[in-house]
Amino acid sequence: MTVTLLDGKALAREIRAELAEKTAVFIQDSGVVPCLAAVLVGEDPASEVYVRNKRKACDQVGMESQMHRLPADTSMEELLTVVNKLNKDDAVHGILVQLPLPEGLDETRILKAISPLKDVDAFHPENVGLIVQNRPRFLPCTPHGIQQLLLRKKIPLSGANVVVVGRSDIVGKPMAIMLMQRGAGGDATVTVCHSRTKDLPAVCRGADILIVAIGRAKFLTADMVKPGAAVIDVGINRTDEGLVGDVDFEGVKEVAGQITPVPGGVGPLTVTMLLHNTLHAATLQLSH
Ligand code: NAP
Repeated sequence: MTVTLLDGKALAREIRAELAEKTAVFIQDSGVVPCLAAVLVGEDPASEVYVRNKRKACDQVGMESQMHRLPADTSMEELLTVVNKLNKDDAVHGILVQLPLPEGLDETRILKAISPLKDVDAFHPENVGLIVQNRPRFLPCTPHGIQQLLLRKKIPLSGANVVVVGRSDIVGKPMAIMLMQRGAGGDATVTVCHSRTKDLPAVCRGADILIVAIGRAKFLTADMVKPGAAVIDVGINRTDEGLVGDVDFEGVKEVAGQITPVPGGVGPLTVTMLLHNTLHAATLQLSH
């Protein structure tokens, strides 16, 4: 079986070029520069890298970004004050509070405090509800990046058996909802698996498209993959041998039809869809 590498980095470059053009037109027409405000609480090294990459990406497509850095011992009230200030700031179009927050801070309450019109991560309950009803305002960045990858690489979705391993609010759950919706980019038959799933290998072997988001290095092995399946590896695991995904790449590439690498697969697309949402947020706020 000859496997095709699904190069997320190259596709991200392509989508960013499109976004740079759209951003330039938006700025020309409106005189407004889309701006993303990132809030980083504490000093988690991985979060520092993520926020730095997101700001760099904004710069690449001609958007502005702000960084609001707060100490790890920030109180709920202090964090809510920062979010409320950004909600009211007309120069800020997208707000992202980098997760995870330090212990003691209530993530659900903070995410709910972000204005739904500036919620570029699409974690606010109002935006999640709109996604479920198939009339999204924003789509969450990682599942949206994966959906774009499947669409643009022409991997058939309509009627396909998709297995999503992992049911997080950030990846697995919205991914499953998006792919089961009616219409282009959906129409799949979706199964969601998690740590209680019985005979996970057998369920995975039924997948035409296998999306793995569990956070366990090289967990998904070749015996769990149907020959020719498309395998999307969302995992980012820091190990002694560097960054690895949730998929045993070396083994699975011998069986799969298409596979995303880690790094260079889903990650760059996630950041790209954040830029897409920031431009969309700026457009929405102009018409409000
Ligand atoms: P998460 O919140 O940590 O949840 C993990 C999910 O995996 C849970 O639903 C859990 O099941 C399930 N799971 C854990 N062990 C399992 C097992 N042995 N068999 C079957 N299911 C199992 O996950 P997340 O936030 O979605 O993150 C998943 C991975 O993706 C992480 O490595 C993260 O760093 C990465 N990630 C990457 C990107 C990107 O842009 N590339 C974005 C977001 C996340 P239960 O619900 O039963 O506990």
